[in-house]
Formats: sequence, C-alpha cells, structure tokens
Amino acid sequence: MATCLPIITLPHPILRKKAALVRAEEIATPTFQKFLEDMVKTMFEADGVGLAAVQVAVAKQVTVISTKDGPIALINPVVTRMSKKTERGEEGCLSVPGVWGVVDRSIHINVEALGRDGKPLKFTAKGFFARVIQHETDHVNGILFVDRAIEVHEADNATD
Ligand code: ZN
Repeated sequence: MATCLPIITLPHPILRKKAALVRAEEIATPTFQKFLEDMVKTMFEADGVGLAAVQVAVAKQVTVISTKDGPIALINPVVTRMSKKTERGEEGCLSVPGVWGVVDRSIHINVEALGRDGKPLKFTAKGFFARVIQHETDHVNGILFVDRAIEVHEADNATD
C-alpha cells in the first residue's frame, strides 16, 4: 500500500540543494519502487501535477509527473535543449504554499532521464507538459519557481 509522505515547505534547506543522482541499480529495488508509489500517491492527494523527491525531504534526483496517460517517473532528469521561444504562465508549488507566480518557460524541450524501470528515456515535450518538467527539473537542482518568476503574488484568501 502506498503511503502519503509529508511535504516540506520553504525555508527547508533541502529545497535549496542540488539533489544526488540515483544509481540505475537502485531503481529496481523494492524500497525504491515503493518510494515512487508513495510519491505518486502524495502528488495526487495534494492535487499536484508534479512532485520532486526533495519536496518530501529526500535529496535524490527523482520526480513524478501526472500526464493524461497516467503518472510517470523521471529520475536524474536533464533538459538537454530548451527552445528560445517561451510562453508565459502561472505556476504554484506545493512547497511554496499560498504563492503564485508568472514564469516564462520554453515551449519545446528535449529531455533525458531514467524511467521507473531504470531504462534511459529520451523525448521531446511541449506546452504545459514541458512547463511541468522544467519546474520539476529545477527542483532537483535546488531552484524554485519563485526564483524565476517575473511577478509573484499571494493567493487570494477571500472566502466567497
Ligand atoms: Zn514545485
């Protein structure tokens, strides 16, 4: 059974450090597979579209992302190419509660990572999916969306 993990928030120092690479051999272990399941459950319970391991205080380069075809894991993710053309969009983060920001992100990216079976993945992404991957890949490098936001605002707490 998957377990919900506690999500850490700023100013927790793990959110600001580059996380460690995962060894391919580690990925197949039951402990690691359980961790991926726990991350997916945590992401869904928190209504997130992506989650990085650093957000549950595990300093490893692991992310999970919700796609229309179901959740995927990107381990040791690297954005190898970013289009010059960017798109402006609103972002929030489970680790920066109550804050939204406007962030310019590349529209098209190339990505390399290991999948949940430990096999190398190489693919292109665009639009919202590309935005989520850039946000999560930033997390493994200790970068938060507020660092890139051209405008940050508090979430509206109005109770209507
Ligand atoms: Zn985030």
